[in-house]
Amino acid sequence: MAIERTFSIIKPDATARNLTGAINAIIEKAGLRIVAQKRIQMTRAQAETFYAVHKSRPFFGELVDFMISAPVVVQVLQGEGAIAKYRDVMGATDPSKAADGTIRKVHAKSIGENSVHGSDAAETAAIEIAQFFSGNEIVG
Ligand code: GDP
Repeated sequence: MAIERTFSIIKPDATARNLTGAINAIIEKAGLRIVAQKRIQMTRAQAETFYAVHKSRPFFGELVDFMISAPVVVQVLQGEGAIAKYRDVMGATDPSKAADGTIRKVHAKSIGENSVHGSDAAETAAIEIAQFFSGNEIVG
């Protein structure tokens, strides 16, 4: 399988509970390498751009408010089949439906406050990485 890069966010519910290290441990144990990482306070404009695909959904306002409610940690993860692998490691969007041992099963609070984001395809991964990182900030 090809080496890929995917984009990850450790979301406000997780940073607020001091879970960055615990989540990074799950990521690294799964064989994914954190090749870029920074803690930022997302602006409303950044959150609206990032989740633009969900603009017409009823939860969009709540989602944007949540994403700017506390700092987030944005990351680039690298590894074999990293995009699908990280989706597996994250677990289902709704933590009550997530498999045992996944980040969302272990740490998420609700379908909205679900601790992590991970890209769903190669095209979105490239766009999402470029929104938050310049090339020289990613060191594989
Ligand atoms: P993901 O790819 O598993 O993160 O899920 P989606 O792309 O479907 O949704 C993006 C994000 O929107 C989710 O991770 C949640 O944070 C949020 N979200 C999705 N569904 C709901 C919902 O019904 N209510 C709320 N408040 N947030 C939601």
